[in-house]
Amino acid sequence: MLNKVLIANRGEIALRVLRACKELGISTVAVHSTADNAAMHVRLADESVCIGPPPARDSYLNIPQILAACEISGADAVHPGYGFLSENARFAEICEAHNVTFIGPTAEHIRQMGDKIEAKRTAERLGIPVVPGSPGAVTDDSEALRIARDIGFPVLIKAASGGGGRGMKVAETERDLSMALATARAEAGAAFGDDSVYIEKYLATPRHIEIQVFGDGAGNAIHLGERDCSLQRRHQKVWEEARSPALDDAQRQRIGEICANAMAQMKYRGAGTIEFLYENGEFYFIEMNTRLQVEHPVTEAITGLDLVHEQIRVASGQGLSRTQSEITFSGHAIECRINAEDPRTFVPSPGTISYYHAPGGLGVRVDSGVYQGYAIPPFYDSLIGKLIVHGRTRQECMMRLRRALDEIIVDGVKTTLPLFQDLIENPDIQAGNYDIHWLEHYLKERASL
Ligand code: ADP
Repeated sequence: MLNKVLIANRGEIALRVLRACKELGISTVAVHSTADNAAMHVRLADESVCIGPPPARDSYLNIPQILAACEISGADAVHPGYGFLSENARFAEICEAHNVTFIGPTAEHIRQMGDKIEAKRTAERLGIPVVPGSPGAVTDDSEALRIARDIGFPVLIKAASGGGGRGMKVAETERDLSMALATARAEAGAAFGDDSVYIEKYLATPRHIEIQVFGDGAGNAIHLGERDCSLQRRHQKVWEEARSPALDDAQRQRIGEICANAMAQMKYRGAGTIEFLYENGEFYFIEMNTRLQVEHPVTEAITGLDLVHEQIRVASGQGLSRTQSEITFSGHAIECRINAEDPRTFVPSPGTISYYHAPGGLGVRVDSGVYQGYAIPPFYDSLIGKLIVHGRTRQECMMRLRRALDEIIVDGVKTTLPLFQDLIENPDIQAGNYDIHWLEHYLKERASL
C-alpha cells in the first residue's frame, strides 16, 4: 500500500482524492499556488506545500516544484486528478524516475492515447469501432479531397494534437474543403504548435457516450458501463448521466465488452474512458482519456464502486477489487457541473461566496471545495462543484434533482444553477431525447427570445 500521496491538483477533485486517501488510511499532501492558500483541500490535507504563484504554469503545471514538494514531504505517490498534469506522459515518467508512484497509466499509454491519430489506429487495432476517416494526417489538399469524397460530405477536419474542440472545422461540401483545411491547420498550429490535421466523417446528430474502463496493468480489465455526456456547450460537458437514455442492456454489454477486451489486450493500467459518438445504433470511437474524469461520480453512483480507491489499489499493485461478473448496475444517476459563470452569457464570475448551503438527503452528493466566505480566484477554470443525484429510476433521479436544485444556495457569485433548473423542466430533457447539438440549439433559441 502507498503511505503518503501528494495530490497535484486543486478544487473539488483535490478534495475527492483526499477523501479516498483518508478512508484508506493514507497520509495526504496538498500542493497549492499562492492564490489557493485558503482552499479547502489545503485545510483538510495532513500537510501542504506552496508550489508557486497563481498562474498554473508556475504552480500546478510546474513539474520541478511538484517533485520538490514530494521530496520535502516524503510522498511516495502522486495523484494528478484531471486536467493539469494528468495526461502529461513526461510528468508520469519523471515521477517514476524519482521513485514516486504515478497514480495512473504508464507514460507509454498516456503518450499513445494523447496523439489522436495514434489513438485511433490503436483503437482500430484493438477491435474498437472508429469513425470512418483518413488513416493518418493529411498534408495534401488533393489527397484530402479524395478521402473526403470517399467517406462522403460533410466531413470534419480535426487537429492531431487537438483538445477542447479547438482546431475543428466542418466542410459541408467540396467547395468548403480547402478553406476548412487551411483554417483548421492555422488554428491547430497556433493552439498546439502542431498543424497536422486529419479527416473524419461528420456525424450530424450523434450522442456522446463514453465507457469507463479499468485495468490492472497485467492483462485484466473491466468496464463499468457508460455515461451519456451529450449535453455540451462549446464541447464542454454540462450534464452527464448513467445510464444513457439511448442504450439498452444488450448494447451496453456489447460495447462494454469490446472496450474491456481492448484494455486487457493492451495491458492498460488504472482508470480510463473510451469516448464514442453514437448514432443510429453504431458506436464511433473519438478518443480515450487516460485519467479519472470529472463525471466519474455518476458511475460510482450506479456501481457502488469508489473509483479513486480502485486507482490507488491498482497503483499499489493490488489489482482490481472486482471481476466483471461482480459489477452490477443499479438505478440512474445525473451530474450537473456547477460553474461560477453567468447562466446566460457564461462569462466567468469569480468573487466571494457570501452564503453557501449544500443540499443533502438520500441519493444526493455534492463534490465541491467551496464554503461560505470562500473567494473564487480568477486564475483557474470556473467549475466550483458538482451535484450528483441517484435514484432507482431516471424519473426518481430527476425528481430528486429538482428538489436538490431547489435546496442548494450559492450567493455572492453568479452560477450556472438556473440553467439546470430550466433544463429539468424541458420536455426533451425529461424524455432523455437529446444529441450533442441539443444544448447549443436550446441556448441559441433562448438567447433570441
Ligand atoms: P477534443 O479532443 O478537441 O475534445 P474530440 O475528438 O473529443 O476533440 O471531439 C470533441 C467533440 O467534437 C465531440 O464531443 C463531438 O461533440 C464533436 N465531434 C468530434 N468528432 C466528430 C465527428 N466525427 N462528427 C461530429 N462531431 C464530432
